[in-house]
Amino acid sequence: MEKTIIINPATDEKVAEYDRITVETAISKIETSNKAYQTWKHKSLEERATLMHKLADVLDENKEEYAQLATTEMGKTIGQSRKEIEKCAWICRYYADNTKDLLANQTVATEASKSYVTFQPIGVVLAVMPWNFPFYQVIRFAAPALMAGNTGVLKHASNVQGCAFALEDAFNKAGFPEGAFTNLNLSAKHVKDVIEDKNIVAVTLTGSDPAGRSVASIAGQNLKKTVMELGGSDAYVILEDADIEKATDLATLGRLQNNGQTCIAAKRFVVLEDIYDAFLESYTKKMKAAKMGEPTDEDAYYGPMARKDLRDELHEQVQKTIKQGGKLVLGGVIPDRKGAYYPATILADLKPGMEGFDNELFGPVASVIKAKDEAEAIALANNSQFGLGSGVITSNKERGEKVALQLEAGSSFVNKLVASDPRLPFGGIKNSGYGRELSGYGIKEFVNTKSIWID
Ligand code: NAP
Repeated sequence: MEKTIIINPATDEKVAEYDRITVETAISKIETSNKAYQTWKHKSLEERATLMHKLADVLDENKEEYAQLATTEMGKTIGQSRKEIEKCAWICRYYADNTKDLLANQTVATEASKSYVTFQPIGVVLAVMPWNFPFYQVIRFAAPALMAGNTGVLKHASNVQGCAFALEDAFNKAGFPEGAFTNLNLSAKHVKDVIEDKNIVAVTLTGSDPAGRSVASIAGQNLKKTVMELGGSDAYVILEDADIEKATDLATLGRLQNNGQTCIAAKRFVVLEDIYDAFLESYTKKMKAAKMGEPTDEDAYYGPMARKDLRDELHEQVQKTIKQGGKLVLGGVIPDRKGAYYPATILADLKPGMEGFDNELFGPVASVIKAKDEAEAIALANNSQFGLGSGVITSNKERGEKVALQLEAGSSFVNKLVASDPRLPFGGIKNSGYGRELSGYGIKEFVNTKSIWID
């Protein structure tokens, strides 16, 4: 039987193995999920909300256990793992408390005696999820999908199967009916068979561009709706009036949190030439001072990357950028220690056409780019195949807002790192994907938006 082997990226040690399921078992579990849907869709919003609140409590009660699991499987520092679980509980409570309003019928004035729009569940939704926020990415899909009356099946990233089973267990502990939320420990090569199954009505994928293209095309062939949350290379425009200390604090946290592996991380810093040298000097000091350590070390600022192959790919991208004329200011050398560690790295003077400018660097490597003025900075920020998040750092909020409105991305934050929030929609444009998660926009992705007309 095929196994999923889990390796702790901080120690290179095997921590667990799980049996993969076959396609036949997956199809049978999806059948169970569809049976659960037939009942679940008729539950009142109050009944669903009660269970969703219980799920939030289960997450809170087991926070330490779940956080340790995430840290062991993908190397996130322990403090950030705890925050991830807290955020999951917040999302569950947000949807438990707000779905009634978010999915309330909308009356529309027509010639009918009564006409309105109503939002009904659609069935079993398949979620294909990544390892970088192993609890949060799943809850971000599952809380709204289940509150809307759908059921969900999860194909999680192979290296975080312990988290996937822990999530399934959490739904069970909260009292959700069997089949409401099911983990499918399936190989990626079998995702096609699952998408084609008659009981799957829609697919949401968070992950890389190639995985997104593959899953979206299979779903398209089967006329099944998809939401795609893909990669990003978020640009932050640092205007000449920015507080440099604040800018470099944000840039350090933005590039190193989650060990540099966040889709909406600040990845490209487009700095106006008046402050370019001062920014680089301050940034280099802070990135150098950030402690790389064991992810269980409470003082570590960042830990290892999630897997050695991902670390090696990142290193190749760094080397390629240097060969193309990028300047290595800090880091760029694989440390001589066990684990998938990569040091905080700064590449400066980057230009379009260089690897570090054009492609996503999914690790602790910052790309610094010089712009002569605001207009050029906006053009450079928008010169990207991606459009997930973006930011502006300035001491002038009005000017910041004007720039934010010109950035081509699903969100633009002024003087703050882009962060998801259940009250606001989250998603991208261009190769960062399509569709939205969170807020009222997210919950309406997987519903039948239905018109009712009473003549
Ligand atoms: P990935 O390699 O694309 O994997 C994501 C998921 O897709 C995993 O469950 C993976 O399974 C599965 N998968 C991979 N190739 C597949 C295929 N051809 N068909 C079906 N399923 C496939 O991505 P990752 O390395 O886990 O995550 C990093 C990427 O995700 C980055 O690009 C990052 O920016 C992006 N991301 C985006 C968001 C967002 O909200 N926009 C959030 C987080 C991450 P296996 O693990 O079994 O291969």
